[in-house]
Amino acid sequence: MWDLVVVGAGPAGASAALGALAADPSLSVLMLDRHDFPRDKACGDGIAPHVLDLLAGVGVTGIVDDWTPVRRFALTWGDVEVDRDMARPNWVVPRTVFDHRLADAAQTAGAQLVRRRVRGLEIQRRAVLVDGEVDARFVVGADGAHSVVRRDLGVKPGPVALAIRGYAPTPSARAASQVIAYGPGRQPSYAWSFDRGDGWSNVGYGEQLTSDRPRPTRADLLAHLEALLPGASGGGKSWWGHHLPLSGWTWRPSAGRVMLAGDAAGLINPMTGEGIYYAVATGLLAGRAVANALRADSADAGTSYRRRTARLLARHLRHTALTVQLTRSGRVLDAGIRAAAADQRIFDDLVELGLADGLITRRLLRGLMS
Ligand SMILES: Cc1cc2nc3c(=O)[nH]c(=O)nc-3n(C[C@H](O)[C@H](O)[C@H](O)COP(=O)(O)OP(=O)(O)OC[C@H]3O[C@@H](n4cnc5c(N)ncnc54)[C@H](O)[C@@H]3O)c2cc1C
Repeated sequence: MWDLVVVGAGPAGASAALGALAADPSLSVLMLDRHDFPRDKACGDGIAPHVLDLLAGVGVTGIVDDWTPVRRFALTWGDVEVDRDMARPNWVVPRTVFDHRLADAAQTAGAQLVRRRVRGLEIQRRAVLVDGEVDARFVVGADGAHSVVRRDLGVKPGPVALAIRGYAPTPSARAASQVIAYGPGRQPSYAWSFDRGDGWSNVGYGEQLTSDRPRPTRADLLAHLEALLPGASGGGKSWWGHHLPLSGWTWRPSAGRVMLAGDAAGLINPMTGEGIYYAVATGLLAGRAVANALRADSADAGTSYRRRTARLLARHLRHTALTVQLTRSGRVLDAGIRAAAADQRIFDDLVELGLADGLITRRLLRGLMS
């Protein structure tokens, strides 16, 4: 009987293990992942400094120190543009590297990692049975966009985007910069070019899938990328398309022995495609909730998880959803980018909202509505 079984050992899963073991190093924690590590993951590879703050809180430091920080961030929509230094640098680190280091850190903390493709779980009175043979007091479903744990909990998926990513040589005009270019049609849709600092950029394009327009093909996605960021895909390799489960107005984790974290919980910022911060934040909180429930000899970690995640994310998710609604009107998107170009503080507010857990401040609202 494991104290905690974590399904998926990406950022959310490794963080769940780290959160539990930081609270109580004596816990038995098993991480199950269908892949061996290192493994690739379709992603923009953008890592906000807030992610590193959270990891430092559980003793994980220095995992991106050998990569070059990126300070510049540009947002464009048609011919309006803001291009400024961020208050704190970001990192662009391939997920083959970042996730491997995080999974290693969880193992160093005491978790076991076993390769296994989980097919399903059964919630029993005293435990959770994974795949009919692994017993756990608690389970964290951190198995990404197509989570089987979410399916078995009966949680319906929310809005989804589809994006393609590749690696291409960095043109000099986009060096040392993270660039997001919003598409001309309905939002959210955007292309990105994130310089890794080693001569290569992570480039891609994604858009929200809706029932009233055809699903874009790989050729469509690549054509949009090239139209929005000319030259970005030249010499590109390792193209990979993937779904992004986007966050909505609310998120209400259920009570009990099983919790969802990261993409499995549908937590990707619809403005920017950022999901690693949410994955690490919710993973850590889920792991801590398990340690607290075990200490209290309780069968319910989900209720305290719900309370703690609400404190961190409830207002932020509403503000993000509102911004996405507002910016569906091109006029508001235009005004927001112009306001951020005119005022560093509005730019900083926008970055906090898009990359971590920021809110719509008064000055940002004035900017969006100007
Ligand atoms: C194209 C693209 C660009 C993006 N760009 C960014 C960006 O620049 N910055 C950012 O912060 N976020 C970005 N995101 C979002 C980010 O990739 C995700 O939010 C993040 O990976 C979530 O972490 P996770 O641990 O929840 O899920 P994942 O990273 O998907 O990890 C899930 C793990 O579960 C495993 N798994 C899945 N099913 C099973 C199963 N049945 N049994 C066992 N194991 C299983 C998988 O092998 C995987 O290791 C992007 C996403 C996409 C698709």
